[in-house]
Amino acid sequence: MTAPAAAPPLDVDRVRQDFPILSERVRGKPLVYLDNAATSQKPRAVIDAVSRFYATENANVHRGVHYLSERATVAYDEVRARVARFLNAPSPETIVFTRGTTEAINLVAQSWARGTLRPGDEILVTGMEHHSNLVPWQLVAAQTGAVVRAVPITDAGELDLRAFDGLLTDRTRLLAAVHVSNALGTINPVRWMVSRAHERGIVTLIDGAQSVPHLPVDVQAIGCDFFAFSGHKVFGPTGVGALYGRAELLEGMPPWQGGGDMIESVTLEHSTWARPPARFEAGTPMIAEVIGLGAALDYVETIGHAPIGTWEEELLAYATERFRGLDGVRLVGTAREKASVLSFLVEGVHPHDVGAVLDDDGIAIRAGHHCAQPVMRRLGIPATARASFAFYNTRDEVDALVRGVERVRRVFA
Ligand code: PMP
Repeated sequence: MTAPAAAPPLDVDRVRQDFPILSERVRGKPLVYLDNAATSQKPRAVIDAVSRFYATENANVHRGVHYLSERATVAYDEVRARVARFLNAPSPETIVFTRGTTEAINLVAQSWARGTLRPGDEILVTGMEHHSNLVPWQLVAAQTGAVVRAVPITDAGELDLRAFDGLLTDRTRLLAAVHVSNALGTINPVRWMVSRAHERGIVTLIDGAQSVPHLPVDVQAIGCDFFAFSGHKVFGPTGVGALYGRAELLEGMPPWQGGGDMIESVTLEHSTWARPPARFEAGTPMIAEVIGLGAALDYVETIGHAPIGTWEEELLAYATERFRGLDGVRLVGTAREKASVLSFLVEGVHPHDVGAVLDDDGIAIRAGHHCAQPVMRRLGIPATARASFAFYNTRDEVDALVRGVERVRRVFA
């Protein structure tokens, strides 16, 4: 058997030209954008798709009988099929458009969990959740009498998988776990976790906000019941994302918002619901953003998951090695399986000050708790500085970051 041909390497200089903002200067310096876990930059293809839609195709969807409306409706529904292919979901009807990951998780919490959970039932999350995969469960726990439990994490920022097994009990109804941690970069073994949960008949939701931009995702291979992601982190517009839901579950779920487009028939007294996914998309959706999301997914697939993965791994390894050589700098999150997030602390300097000095050099990172306060509390730190890479970042940018951190050390010496 011949080995599969290796994917051609990524031509970073070329792909950078697809992103207009990467040629901007900030504070008189070339922009070094290392805040991709917060939001990623947009290629020209996405910017053009959104502006072309408004310039030539804008109309509301699913309502009009006129040419533009029909065209907008077709374009909107084509992206649903596009997202299904991207996630390897079994059909477009299993994809619900939402404002992003946060809204997708709230949808499951309010539509599925609120009517399903009983007092004493358990929702199992992990100790490394973003607040958006924690607070919605706390809200629904307060509404139903269910209890939220969390899988502990190790000092390196990995899940304690032995504890995970012990936390799956006869009371557990839902496992809601993050695929890739935004604060630590840890890639969790979600396929294994989902299969352990399913052995006990537990419904599973995976927060894919940070995995979709970096890894090929196959929801059928993971086997999860729900999967959520945000367009803006995968080079698409803000204000759009999607929820994948297993068809049988979506079919049995009530609406969580009422309005136009989600009904079958309405009288003054009573309404009946459209089938999924329309049932969960009340009101005029984010049409231009959905079109932009479709262009973003096309763009990512044109570049290719394999070259993206290889380049990002190389960048992360290079950055990790350079940071390990820096005096007074500590990496936070050293899991064996990591995506391109480098959280760190500079001895004696608050992460916000690290961020401010780097900003003077035109380097954009994030400083804070990264909406993952339980992670910070577990590791006994208030915050971290975080550089997060995308495939358009370069070794030169890592070098600029390292020089910047050395300057931080000098400024605060
Ligand atoms: N989960 C994770 C792991 C995230 O990193 C984020 C965004 N930082 C979210 C959920 C929420 O995504 P959004 O704000 O796009 O809804």
